[in-house]
Amino acid sequence: MISFNSSSAAPADCCIIGGGIIGLSIARRLAAQGLSIALFDKSSPGTEASHAAGGMLCPRLEFEKGSPLSEMGEISLQLYPDYARELEEETGLCVDLRLDGVITPLSREETPGSTSSEDAIPRLLEGDALRELEPGISPEITRALYYEDEGSIDNRALTAALAVACKNLGVRIYPDCEVLEILVQEEAARGVRTREGDFSSAIVINSAGAWAGKIAGEVEQVDINPVKGQMLMLDCNGFEEKLPRHTIYSHQTYLVPRRDGRVIVGATVEDKGFDKSVEPAAIEALHQKAAGIFPFLGDIQPRESWAGLRPMGKQDVPYIGALSPSGYYAAVGHYRNGILLAPLTQELMAREILGTTE
Ligand SMILES: Cc1cc2nc3c(=O)[nH]c(=O)nc-3n(C[C@H](O)[C@H](O)[C@H](O)COP(=O)(O)OP(=O)(O)OC[C@H]3O[C@@H](n4cnc5c(N)ncnc54)[C@H](O)[C@@H]3O)c2cc1C
Repeated sequence: MISFNSSSAAPADCCIIGGGIIGLSIARRLAAQGLSIALFDKSSPGTEASHAAGGMLCPRLEFEKGSPLSEMGEISLQLYPDYARELEEETGLCVDLRLDGVITPLSREETPGSTSSEDAIPRLLEGDALRELEPGISPEITRALYYEDEGSIDNRALTAALAVACKNLGVRIYPDCEVLEILVQEEAARGVRTREGDFSSAIVINSAGAWAGKIAGEVEQVDINPVKGQMLMLDCNGFEEKLPRHTIYSHQTYLVPRRDGRVIVGATVEDKGFDKSVEPAAIEALHQKAAGIFPFLGDIQPRESWAGLRPMGKQDVPYIGALSPSGYYAAVGHYRNGILLAPLTQELMAREILGTTE
């Protein structure tokens, strides 16, 4: 636990509340432009939703074509290669970006025209063409759609790399330091009150994920609800021949392979408040569904299971921008797609705060 108080803590240009992928991405982006940043997390950065996620980058499967979210997802996906490469160059850490396609199995009854994803013009794979791409897939699955440029990233590696990049840029990161209140004076944000003392800054950004609506202060409130997701991880080392080679996105469940042999299986969608308990029955059900797609997975015991809280706002689109009073901003409500939308979010916030589009 760090200790400081308001008199000893140097003021910053910007206080950021929350060190998930959103807060860390914004911190790195603004610090690279020369702003001094203090970032606070109530636990350790990158340990909540951004840790719990599957890391899928699938705008065409997640969003209705033509919707604002679909446009945001497409733009953010296009930003991903540079975002990931620059981060890897800055830190020397691998974030395992894989944009080699996502496969959606079709049931016997489904025709490509009857799937919600028909307009995304995916390629239809049948028989040998499917098995060539995915030798381990169940013989029961004979057809699938292939979204060739979507994929995944290792979200845990990504947040770890972001934290290192932030530190390299001089961002002051305060773990175990809950922000209790946003300080306001003369109708402008003036900093934050934490459990360890007050910090002053002319800019305050709320990126506290599912908890964003719980911070006090005479500021415009954000209405965010937690949506629980349970997941598991299977260590498939030794099964390289059968391992899913792409992200598999079915109506039943999804499988996200990592380069090191792990397969992430997700996820439940539950309205349980801030409860993050892991229920064996839910994990078992996900495991069975995964085995229905890749039968060999049924023989592997889960090595890890967990739950996380997706931050869901009142509207479909996350809130990214200025709130009142002046100097107060939020980047919240990314719900199921905060990993996908992080590169775009940091650009939108940079544009808003720095007034630049570079
Ligand atoms: C099971 C699951 C699967 C998912 N899969 C995907 C996926 O495949 N692809 C995708 O794009 N997205 C996915 N998501 C969604 C994605 O994880 C989130 O949208 C994203 O992580 C949100 O990032 P965040 O930084 O806003 O929130 P978080 O990562 O939750 O970070 C918020 C941070 O704020 C801190 N905090 C909260 N209150 C305070 C306070 N008062 N003071 C200081 N710190 C505070 C918390 O400790 C936390 O570290 C998934 C989410 C879940 C739960």
